[in-house]
Amino acid sequence: MNACTVCHSDFYEDELGHQACRPCTERVDAALRALAGADGLYSRLSDSLRPGSSSGGPVVSGSREAPTPVRMGPLSLAARGGVVTILQTWLVDWHEALAYRHPRWSGDLQQQCDQVVNRLRVLLPWAAEAHPAFEEFALEVYQLRRQCEAATGGERPARRFGVICECGTILRITLESPGKKCDACGAQYALQELRKLPMAERRAA
Ligand SMILES: [Zn+2]
Ligand SMILES: [Zn+2]
Repeated sequence: MNACTVCHSDFYEDELGHQACRPCTERVDAALRALAGADGLYSRLSDSLRPGSSSGGPVVSGSREAPTPVRMGPLSLAARGGVVTILQTWLVDWHEALAYRHPRWSGDLQQQCDQVVNRLRVLLPWAAEAHPAFEEFALEVYQLRRQCEAATGGERPARRFGVICECGTILRITLESPGKKCDACGAQYALQELRKLPMAERRAA
């Protein structure tokens, strides 16, 4: 493999043969971290479902929603079968690929969420290097984070910043931009090339 399966940037020499580049691995790690913990998205999701919570509770549609990758509501995300189960399914898959024993879960769903996220983060470097479905995992984790953000009202627009094209035009990109084309000169940049462009001065928002 000569390019990252997630962002399609060319690999550096020491990444050749891997599934994902280092920045993508770091982005997935950040998305996993955002889900777990006492202030994490999963915890906020459960809070938002409690009756009398400030958000006024979830809007539950009458029709039963299909599992991922179709968009899930807050209830489906928080319940068994949602975030925790999806992540556990990946961990089981990874343990099988590594010929490890079946992982064990204990405690309530929040504790299981924290456990599975910790474990996935430990194995993430291996998966980014060697798991053939790493792209699918990465996109699913991004999607879970986005869905949890939307469900908790914490959806923030991706932080934008500017880099300067070789023609001098400022290109607005986000950390998750897989690439960018300059409308002025037509230059096409892969993520890795974007990272090498000089940063534009940060303007006051
Ligand atoms: Zn990548
Ligand atoms: Zn340009």
